[in-house]
Amino acid sequence: MNIKTATKKGSNAHRNRVRDPFYQSKQYKAWRKEVIAQSNGCCVHCRDPKIKNENGTYARIVKPGKVTDHIIPIKKGGAKLDVSNGQYLCSYHNNVKTAKDK
Ligand SMILES: [Zn+2]
Repeated sequence: MNIKTATKKGSNAHRNRVRDPFYQSKQYKAWRKEVIAQSNGCCVHCRDPKIKNENGTYARIVKPGKVTDHIIPIKKGGAKLDVSNGQYLCSYHNNVKTAKDK
């Protein structure tokens, strides 16, 4: 019997991200810097009145950003180095978004 089982692990995206040389590249670092600059160093979701904050309310508590995120994930065809596909998020909003992207 030779049954091939396709086991796809989708949960180690973060680890892949650390290992992927793209995230060590000069181009990525330059992109990241631009994204942080365009967000003024603050989480863009905290500032968006349509997005709930960590307390589950719409009150604006703007936290400093922590993670540069691709709005359209690279694995979904998003542009890797387009600053308009980048946003700066606090760790809370990054977690919310990562959960949605799955
Ligand atoms: Zn936030």
